[in-house]
Amino acid sequence: MPLSEFDLIERYFARQTPSQNVDIGIGDDCAVVTPPPGSSLAITTDTLIEGVHFPVNTAPADIAIKTLAVNFSDLAAMGARPHWVTLSLTMPDNDEIWLDEFAAALHDMLGQFECALVGGDTTRGPLSITLQAIGLIKAGRVMRRDLARPGDRIYVTGTIGDAAIALAVLDRPVAERDWFLQRLHRPSPRVGFGIDAAEFCVCAIDISDGLAADLAHVIQSSGVGAVVHLPQIPLSAQAKSYFDAAGGIDWQQLVTGGDDYELLLTVPERHEPALLALADEHQMQVTCIGEVTSEAKMKLLLCDGTELPLDHKGYRHF
Ligand code: ADP
Ligand code: MG
Repeated sequence: MPLSEFDLIERYFARQTPSQNVDIGIGDDCAVVTPPPGSSLAITTDTLIEGVHFPVNTAPADIAIKTLAVNFSDLAAMGARPHWVTLSLTMPDNDEIWLDEFAAALHDMLGQFECALVGGDTTRGPLSITLQAIGLIKAGRVMRRDLARPGDRIYVTGTIGDAAIALAVLDRPVAERDWFLQRLHRPSPRVGFGIDAAEFCVCAIDISDGLAADLAHVIQSSGVGAVVHLPQIPLSAQAKSYFDAAGGIDWQQLVTGGDDYELLLTVPERHEPALLALADEHQMQVTCIGEVTSEAKMKLLLCDGTELPLDHKGYRHF
């Protein structure tokens, strides 16, 4: 007999949360939480729809991980620590094998981040997952996208473009295909790094819609411009080999491809030593890719100093 909605919630989602400032968790009309004194809440939500944000038949564990990762990445970009999440799950049927794998990966990752699932909603329909994540920020230690200043150096964490390559090779047997797919389906939100960076950085964004599009958000909201030195954009060894085999780097793909979930931070020169020390501490690759300028314009410069014209600036939802 198929599980009832309540049995399903009980079996897959209701878990005892180890405190996490949860007064009332799953089971009542609302969750009730009490933030510790001196902290602000950062609240974000993202919806992932099958066939739009992930391919049909993506493994349930990958979907769970990606759903958490994209939300935690938003929190990381503000310097917030994930604390509570709610989950709205719409599924065509209550497939217990699917739910087993989804819930196991979900609870596993929540455990790693010491984050509690405190509520949600369960409905029938085409597969779609909406997760809301609520994080804590120490008062005054928030990074925003509108605080870039001319002269700041533009840094990115990790490597750029791996997820876009994964999408390009979904149905092609290229070298390291599984590694690229891992980068697409299981991004690593830079949570610990973001929280620590917020001690001295005031401006950051996470790169989700593509490097150019997200940098454009920063400069537009800050009322500044930017120069990016394209050859400085950090590539993974796998991406380098891929582009070598393809006859060269596809700059358009590199700057417009989405789903990196790395952080972009702008820092005044005086904070660069602190950023580099922090990167060392977290064993996080950070790379300076350009500078913030006062002319309200984004320039993407190729090796020979010419400007890359942009076809489109990144993922557009409509
Ligand atoms: P209500 O009818 O009061 O909105 P629901 O029947 O939708 O309550 O849900 C019952 C309880 O289970 C609530 O506490 C809700 O937050 C929780 N819940 C429902 N679906 C999920 C889910 N997918 N994940 C986590 N909690 C859920
Ligand atoms: Mg409900």
